[in-house]
Amino acid sequence: DEPQDAVAKAGLLSRLTGQGGAVVKRELDDDMLEQLEELLIASDMGVDTALRVTANIAEGRLGKRVSSDEIKALLAGEVARIMETVARPMPLYASKPQVVLIVGVNGAGKTTTIGKLASQFRAAGKSVVIAAGDTFRAAAVEQLQVWGERAGVPVLTAPEGSDPASLAFDAMSKAEADGADLLMIDTAGRLQNRQDLMEELAKIVRVIRKKDPDAPHNTLLVLDATTGQNAINQVETFQKLADVSGLVMTKLDGTAKGGILVSLADKFGLPIHAIGVGEQIDDLQPFDPEEFAAALIG
Ligand code: GDP
Repeated sequence: DEPQDAVAKAGLLSRLTGQGGAVVKRELDDDMLEQLEELLIASDMGVDTALRVTANIAEGRLGKRVSSDEIKALLAGEVARIMETVARPMPLYASKPQVVLIVGVNGAGKTTTIGKLASQFRAAGKSVVIAAGDTFRAAAVEQLQVWGERAGVPVLTAPEGSDPASLAFDAMSKAEADGADLLMIDTAGRLQNRQDLMEELAKIVRVIRKKDPDAPHNTLLVLDATTGQNAINQVETFQKLADVSGLVMTKLDGTAKGGILVSLADKFGLPIHAIGVGEQIDDLQPFDPEEFAAALIG
């Protein structure tokens, strides 16, 4: 059982195909396909997706001689094809303010992502207001204020333990009064008490809809790519808690090359709006399927 790290470090295919690039050809047989499946599964791609990708590659090629470069290109093509369907920037709307609700478990990177997004919107000439909706975590509020300062964006806060929905309502009023283009609302990520969190999120949505029936215009689920298959559970859970419209995948700068993204794309088809590639303010990028596929296959 190869550790996943070894796969990530070596690049997905080097173990299977070894050296030889375009020169050495091997017969594409069941044994090779099985190894390929194992590698894909070890990359977090998920069993179903790995089997389907492998089957697509095998089609019409079983028993033929292929080089490792050919296999790589086929594999990268399959991955890129799946990922192209979900690579989409966050849609922008004309409403003022358009509301972006940010959900996700604690530690996924919500605060950081809000800071990075705020900075990008500012750079694009948009005015932004942030509401620190995780009112039960003082540290989260402070962190968000730091990010707000970095991005040059006001952060609205409420006393510790106060109702996030009332903060969201006030934030809507302020953003309206200021003529802000965007209001980003942070939310709590404590999954320990799902019922509470569900009611809290539902109430936030209810009060902001009093001001704008179309809000929130985007509900972004922030996921930590290094949590592997656990991300699947998080999507399932948050889809029950909120009307998730898109994903931001964080921590793709680490050893995890993000096979989990393929699994998510295949299973849920939710758009991936952006990826986090570091802890700094500029470390948020659009999701590029081809680049991703090339990095994953290695
Ligand atoms: P929150 O609890 O969901 O608000 O998560 P935070 O935004 O506080 O992030 C948790 C930790 O992950 C912090 O140490 C961040 O610096 C780090 N982090 C967030 N996004 C990224 C990323 O894209 N890459 C890396 N390397 N670290 C990240």
